[in-house]
Amino acid sequence: MVSVTLLGSAQDGGVPQAGSANSEKLQKRYPVAIGLVDSDGGRHLFDVSRYLAEQLQIWGQTGVDSIFLTHAHIGHVDGLTLFGKEVMNCQGITLNCSKIMHDLIKNTPIWSIMVDQGVFTLKTNNFVKLPGVTVEAIEIPHRAELSDMHAYIIKADKSLLYLPDHDTWRETLNGHDLRAWLNHLEIDIALIDGTFFSKDELKNRKQEEIPHPPVEQTLEMLGERREGDGEIVFIHLNHTNPLCRDDTPVTELGWKVGQEGMRFLI
Ligand SMILES: [Zn+2]
Ligand SMILES: [Zn+2]
Repeated sequence: MVSVTLLGSAQDGGVPQAGSANSEKLQKRYPVAIGLVDSDGGRHLFDVSRYLAEQLQIWGQTGVDSIFLTHAHIGHVDGLTLFGKEVMNCQGITLNCSKIMHDLIKNTPIWSIMVDQGVFTLKTNNFVKLPGVTVEAIEIPHRAELSDMHAYIIKADKSLLYLPDHDTWRETLNGHDLRAWLNHLEIDIALIDGTFFSKDELKNRKQEEIPHPPVEQTLEMLGERREGDGEIVFIHLNHTNPLCRDDTPVTELGWKVGQEGMRFLI
């Protein structure tokens, strides 16, 4: 049996976010991450947040065998150091990432020392075969200040897409229709970027500064879930996203909003 568990449903800042009053007492959400268990029980973590302790508990695991990174933005990598001497004292964890991310790790002292100490073994293959499941990295346009960005397709009997961050559907789809793109990739379950619900959600920042396709737009492209459609789950929610309070704009169309602990058998 191969399973994927959603370990975090929030954007990099989590919910509540540092500096937000959270007067509504929104339910806590961790920065996005998923845990894959292969058919031999191997444990593979996709993105590593500073809430690693809580997220491993949600997953029911006490360690990991390998890690896959999407990109270098803070919530996706800021738990990496927890595998080192000061905390878990791990050895020989395979760390899968892009070539650009690999070079960033080698050039960032707090991470490169962990490679030197044998905590991580870096690998840059974009196709990884694991027992009962394959993992394929696909490059996705996303603001690349530090690294490029890769989504992952995890394929066993079913295929799951993990796409927590991207800039615009126009660039990601490159002229294709969203439904046609998902069909072409043969995706049964898509965990996709739901950072902001609408364009005008961030009052103090210009939208161009923080590109992510708004959920509103994605819902317009998808329409209602039809017979034979796969599952679509919105993840990477910003603390301002109204879906943190009420998920009905998504659920009434037949799609889902991510919740920590959601488990998919693939
Ligand atoms: Zn992110
Ligand atoms: Zn990002």
